[in-house]
Amino acid sequence: MFKKILIANRGEIAVRIIRACHEMGIQTVAVYSEVDKTALHTQMADEAICIGPAKSKDSYLNMQNILSATVLTGAEAIHPGFGFLSENSKFAQMCEECNIKFIGPDSQNIDNMGNKLKAREIMIKAGVPVVPGSEGAIDSEEDAISSAQKIGYPVMIKASAGGGGRGIRVVTKEEDLINAFNTAKTESKTAFGDDTMYMEKFIEEPRHIEFQILADEHGNVIHLGERDCSIQRRNQKVIEEAPGVAMTEELRKQMGEVAVIAAKSIKYKNAGTIEFLLDKYGKYYFMEMNTRIQVEHPITEMITGVDLVKAQIMIASGQVLPYKQKDIKIQGHAIECRINAENPSKNFMPCPGEIKSLHLPGGNGVRIDSAAYQGYKIPPTYDSMIGKLIVHGKDRQEALCKMRRALGEFIIEGVDTNIDFQFKIVNNKNFINGNFDTSFISKEFKNI
Ligand code: ADP
Ligand code: ADP
Ligand code: MG
Repeated sequence: MFKKILIANRGEIAVRIIRACHEMGIQTVAVYSEVDKTALHTQMADEAICIGPAKSKDSYLNMQNILSATVLTGAEAIHPGFGFLSENSKFAQMCEECNIKFIGPDSQNIDNMGNKLKAREIMIKAGVPVVPGSEGAIDSEEDAISSAQKIGYPVMIKASAGGGGRGIRVVTKEEDLINAFNTAKTESKTAFGDDTMYMEKFIEEPRHIEFQILADEHGNVIHLGERDCSIQRRNQKVIEEAPGVAMTEELRKQMGEVAVIAAKSIKYKNAGTIEFLLDKYGKYYFMEMNTRIQVEHPITEMITGVDLVKAQIMIASGQVLPYKQKDIKIQGHAIECRINAENPSKNFMPCPGEIKSLHLPGGNGVRIDSAAYQGYKIPPTYDSMIGKLIVHGKDRQEALCKMRRALGEFIIEGVDTNIDFQFKIVNNKNFINGNFDTSFISKEFKNI
């Protein structure tokens, strides 16, 4: 087992990883940017090294500085968390070359799955159902028009390098196509430095169902059930729950097996997520694979009892997966609300600033993953997520009651948050009845 791990991330996920390391008796090294000198992850780790100015590209994306910090502190492995360098195959490869263990899949795995177009091709070959769409990249406006005609409107234009809901446009009629194609292309170039685009059939009123995978370095692959992440705003997740309300034991078995086949087809290693769309008729389609730990991983931990971050570390150290598929039992129901510093009435504009007062909910079945503390100044530079509120109940009904109760206890003063908005969602009749799909927020909350 590793003696020392460097965490190449910030915020709640860095704290989450440090906690797992400390429970495992592993020393931790935090890296931080100049604005994160007093951030919780910087303070909680055994050692902390400044890796550059606030801007991500100069610090949390600065591969040279992060590798130097690793060598300097004698850390043997790097945990990349999510976002930042977590899905950067070049970084994973540089780690491999420096003999530093990247806690995640190998660079080849990331290469294969990070590019959504390539991932589609690989999945088609493996016999995994994918969303119907263009055969390859869409290079020109003419190509876009003819592909859309072939696929049939509505279509979705997607960036091959995309992530976090960016570089995506839905088009319902031909006259809107060229404009949407060009704006999505520009957005992708700006966000990901790549403007390879492709097109999919727009699946109407689907649920977003994703399967958590764990794969060791000896060929063993299991799934840990699904998460329903249909509550989204602009293709970004807002609430996630596990298990999914629309799932049956039979469907879980089928989709889980497909997810395992998908992971095995690329000899995938470590934790990963296979995202599917489940349509109104019960048909499911592979959408993408995330080759990293996900924001919403705690809900799977709550219902399976498996610590996914510890599992990642154990796998990376070469251990054999200590669970077989039959050992994974789903117990109860978990829900996660992402708590963001943003103002829902101002089009969800991020609201950085000082947290003047903070009271976190607690009690039986309530978990908070956050890097916030009273007096902490949220910098404007990074993601606006300040924490995650996760609850676990014996069934969905109890989990919902706990979530309402916990959101009610939550107090954050000094910055605007989406807590009231989350409260409205968990009190919405259609949400309570499990009657929702990915269009839920846009339909139910038209005026915000
Ligand atoms: P999930 O919530 O399923 O883990 P998201 O797509 O919401 O995945 O991404 C998680 C985090 O990673 C978010 O903070 C998001 O902004 C960031 N992220 C996702 N993809 C990329 C990418 N390609 N480049 C940079 N950041 C990304
Ligand atoms: P990202 O990498 O940004 O997470 P995804 O490919 O996972 O991109 O898509 C993000 C979200 O967009 C999905 O969770 C889903 O709600 C929606 N989406 C993606 N593809 C389709 C599609 N073909 N039809 C309908 N909705 C889609
Ligand atoms: Mg996705």
